Amino acid sequence: MKEKGLLIVISGPSGTGKGTVCKAILDKNDFWISVSATTRSPRVGEIEGKSYYFLAKEEFVSKINNDDFLEYAEVYGNFYGTPKSKVLEMIEQGRDVILEIDIQGALKVKDNYPEGVFIFILPPSMVELKNRITKRGTETPESLMTRFKSAYKEINYVSKYNYAVVNDNVDDAVRKIESIVSAERCRVDRMKETIFDCKEGLMHEQLYD
Ligand code: ADP
Ligand code: 5GP
Repeated sequence: MKEKGLLIVISGPSGTGKGTVCKAILDKNDFWISVSATTRSPRVGEIEGKSYYFLAKEEFVSKINNDDFLEYAEVYGNFYGTPKSKVLEMIEQGRDVILEIDIQGALKVKDNYPEGVFIFILPPSMVELKNRITKRGTETPESLMTRFKSAYKEINYVSKYNYAVVNDNVDDAVRKIESIVSAERCRVDRMKETIFDCKEGLMHEQLYD
């Protein structure tokens, strides 16, 4: 029988490069990335069902009430949530699933799904983080300051994660995450089915026949 897939949670403060790193990982690996729901308005170039499922607040609340989310959180005044059923279905099918979510959401997932792999993306420095959020050009000056101030506090949550990856160079960060995933797949507690299959079909007594 096949092992379950991994739930790989990639998070960290806004602007550290989570989106950039996840995109680069998906270009090279057959991971399945969950598309979140949000009440935020689409940015230029964002595509419904690919970037996010853009929902009205009432639709989002109705999904909360239906227990449709693995986790949800309010981030900078908008709601974001991970649709539950598809993620769990993919994991059962043996696919490795990536969630790119904020820190509050990651900690909720950790409470409910501790066997996940929790990776915190760190910026090389706070100065570089500020440069990146500014250069991305998606924020108003107020929103930029809110994100930067939050980032300063959020860095402290790194201790709750299993791994921290500094995103100095995107290719290096991708290689490190690929290595983490490879090692996690080899953990004995994740290989019960493989070990069972290895022994199946030959009883101990038959070893000497
Ligand atoms: P997040 O998803 O964490 O909010 P983004 O992926 O949007 O962050 O990255 C924020 C900005 O930083 C973007 O303009 C992106 O192009 C840039 N960026 C990401 N990673 C790097 C890197 N390793 N070196 C330089 N710039 C980067
Ligand atoms: P943005 O508005 O820049 O796309 O995202 C803002 C923040 O929300 C980012 O930190 C992003 O990782 C986070 N986010 C995106 N989707 C989800 C989700 O489904 N759940 C949670 N908790 N955070 C999310």
